[in-house]
Amino acid sequence: MSCKSSFEARLKDQYRAYQLLKRKLRTSLASKIVNNLRPTDLRNIYHAIHQERPQSGTPPSVEAIPNARESFLYMALFVSIYRSASRVNINTEIDVDAVIFAWDYFCTLFPNHIRERRPYGRIRPANFDEAWIIAQGIKDGLTELRYCKTCHRNYLIIHGSKYQPICQICVTDKALLHT
Ligand SMILES: [Zn+2]
Repeated sequence: MSCKSSFEARLKDQYRAYQLLKRKLRTSLASKIVNNLRPTDLRNIYHAIHQERPQSGTPPSVEAIPNARESFLYMALFVSIYRSASRVNINTEIDVDAVIFAWDYFCTLFPNHIRERRPYGRIRPANFDEAWIIAQGIKDGLTELRYCKTCHRNYLIIHGSKYQPICQICVTDKALLHT
């Protein structure tokens, strides 16, 4: 019995690893949730899919992702899709299937603007790494989706970001009024 279940667990992990690495998630991030495969296995799978070595180095932190006020609007949209697609409490765990769904859907909305490599535009997440890090930020309480009573839309805040934790839609509207 235990042999069968460990085989199944490994097969499930392989499928999950494939889903994540196909979208170019860094192997260092993938290895945190794919427990039955070694980091070497993950690098080999990545290489087999893309014919290139996985990206190394430290993944970006969530507060470093937005490079413009406008980025918050796109990130809020991404998180709204993620939250709607999720079947678990995303404040306590990452819903892998929902991150994948939200990222694929987000890409269909902005097909020509998503950039995997620098220079990134204002539309964020710009790649699956960033999408993953945002989902992780929600789980860790670093990122929150809040409801704005003034403009009646969801807005995103990132604790520790250089942008104030306020509705960026309203700030942008005010700035437009004064120009
Ligand atoms: Zn607002």
